[in-house]
Amino acid sequence: LSDRLGGVLDRLTKQGALSDSDVSTALREVRVALLEADVSLPVARDFIKAVQEKAAGQNVTKSVTPGQQVVKIVHDELVHFLAGDDQNPGDLKIDNAPAPILMVGLQGSGKTTTTAKLAKRLKEKHGKRVLMASLDIYRPAAQDQLAVLGNQVGVDTLPIVKGQSAVDIAKRAKQQATLGGYDVYMLDTAGRLHIDETLMQEVEDVRNVTNPRETMLVVDGLTGQDAVNVAEQFDGQIGISGVVLTRMDGDGRGGAALSMRAVTGKPIKFVGLGEKMDAIEEFHPERIAGRILGMGDIVSLVEKAQETIEAEQAERMMKRFQKGQFNMNDLKMQLEQMIKMGGMEGLMGMMPGMKKMAAQAEKAGMDDKVLKRQIALIQSMTKRERANPSLLQASRKKRIAKGAGLEVSELNKLLKMQRQMGDMMKKMGKMGKGGMLKQAMS
Ligand code: GDP
Ligand code: MG
Repeated sequence: LSDRLGGVLDRLTKQGALSDSDVSTALREVRVALLEADVSLPVARDFIKAVQEKAAGQNVTKSVTPGQQVVKIVHDELVHFLAGDDQNPGDLKIDNAPAPILMVGLQGSGKTTTTAKLAKRLKEKHGKRVLMASLDIYRPAAQDQLAVLGNQVGVDTLPIVKGQSAVDIAKRAKQQATLGGYDVYMLDTAGRLHIDETLMQEVEDVRNVTNPRETMLVVDGLTGQDAVNVAEQFDGQIGISGVVLTRMDGDGRGGAALSMRAVTGKPIKFVGLGEKMDAIEEFHPERIAGRILGMGDIVSLVEKAQETIEAEQAERMMKRFQKGQFNMNDLKMQLEQMIKMGGMEGLMGMMPGMKKMAAQAEKAGMDDKVLKRQIALIQSMTKRERANPSLLQASRKKRIAKGAGLEVSELNKLLKMQRQMGDMMKKMGKMGKGGMLKQAMS
């Protein structure tokens, strides 16, 4: 795939803003990559569409091709999408002891293994007392399997009583967890090869008698299309709170993760990485994104190019400041940096003597919207005007303001700001051959 992709991407080498055709060409390859990673067709389609809208018109970093730039944009979107607003994927809700955790999923997805892995983690990492119970009354020796794993990891399992229904076992687990002073009890349910009504009903009944704090759907990371169905049905009927993606130690590219996130909107919390009891880790969106896309080299190439350019810009700017030069091009670059670094305080706050000014700017409502309007004003100036703002007399001002769709008063404010910052730069330049500025910029 990489070879073929490289070929297509190399053919696109012009610079500037991404054109629609740059984007479509690159996205066609990305689409193939997603499908090869087992992302389901409708999810891949929707995802590509969203990225297409985002990518068109964005600037291409120097020394990378438009195709490479698109791949980076896709990658960042993937990470963003997979992460959602989930801050700590590895945290399980286990307050109000005993907290029930319900494990659901198809047969062979890794429920029993994952139950024991999570129990071990809760015990060792969080110091919790955990009780595990197998509700799998169908597969011969399924309950013994959990007991063996429990022994292995040093976690208690509910004593096996033959002939009880899944719901009866769940009730007994709850009672035992309460009486025994456990923090958490985990219910490992039975799976089927495919979803069927009886199974769903049983899981629903268990849910109703235990009211789980977490309902974790365990899905085989090697399954592609099926994962969507499974996730959709479990979430629709039972309601899941998170997903564990198993077998990510294999060659699977993990497209199921994207599909399930898209369909359920529920966070992927853990990833299973083998049969051993500590082969589990919390979800890292960048890792899975890289794997799904399979274009890690391109992503890091673009990141490096971006870093290099930022460093070059900073260096150039510093030299100009030392000479006391600060024109509209410099201001524009500063404003763009501010947007990127999350506002005025981010950038100016790092420069000694500028903290106060940053605070003032912040108070004056220097948010992204204002910054973008100021950039629009600068963009509507000619090259000569940008380099030499003192050229700006009334008629030019009117033209510029009109060009940006703004008032002249706003342009005046911008000019004042440029003058003030220029003065400040001059002062700082004089303070010993830029020693202070150098410090601030490094
Ligand atoms: P269940 O039917 O859903 O309870 O599935 P099991 O927990 O019994 O797991 C089925 C098989 O998958 C077992 O042989 C496990 O060792 C294996 N398994 C589970 N999780 C993983 C994983 O993350 N990686 C690998 N390689 N194997 C796993
Ligand atoms: Mg099992």
